[in-house]
Amino acid sequence: MINNNRKSYDAILVDLDGTLIDLDLNKFIPAYVDALAKRFTGRVDHVDFIRHLLQATSIMVKNRDPHKKNKVVFYEEFCSRIGYSFEEIEPVIDDFYRKDFPNLSCWGQELPFARSVVETAQKKNLPLILATNPLFPLAAVLHRLTWAGLNSDDFKLITTMDNMHYCKPNPDYYLEISQKIDCPPERCLMAGNDTLEDLIAAKVGMNTFLVEDFILHRAGIELVSNYRGSLEDLAAFIENIEL
Ligand SMILES: [Mg+2]
Repeated sequence: MINNNRKSYDAILVDLDGTLIDLDLNKFIPAYVDALAKRFTGRVDHVDFIRHLLQATSIMVKNRDPHKKNKVVFYEEFCSRIGYSFEEIEPVIDDFYRKDFPNLSCWGQELPFARSVVETAQKKNLPLILATNPLFPLAAVLHRLTWAGLNSDDFKLITTMDNMHYCKPNPDYYLEISQKIDCPPERCLMAGNDTLEDLIAAKVGMNTFLVEDFILHRAGIELVSNYRGSLEDLAAFIENIEL
């Protein structure tokens, strides 16, 4: 625990995968990239496609250029690697998210207390931000929200590769959210299951709540949060926030 615990906030940021939905990214990502690679059969070798996709993702995560959105960084790298322009692959990718991505729903299970978190925040008039790592386009986030039994109207802002310039665990990701919603970091609570990617929000002055149901504890990372508990506890915590 750290000392600057507050009990009053103006915005709640909450992670998606492993927090509001039972979805293990370590199992989901391989199924997802495999399905996407199949869309490029005959154009890009399957194994090469996956390697380029993961390497371009890694470059997007490390990007520090404040003038380039994640999507731009990703596709500049990915397109040059596979030898196709964005205009050539965009229709294929869009069609994949429309038709194939929904078939991956077996990887995500709804959590009953996700709804409680959303409804409690709404009851208290506290804006909710879906602070999911912006590696994906909006379509991929909206599908996962549906699997979680939630929808986009529940959130004031949803972070995606289309609207953000940084990824977790870069603390600037949290600063960018704070600027977008016009709320100082000290007035935000970040809740999530990842001891690195979510708790690093403390670096910019946010309070943190570690959601432990599907805790992702990275080796060598000191576990420091203002609060911790189950998703049910998070709903109760929000209920008791002083306005
Ligand atoms: Mg997570």
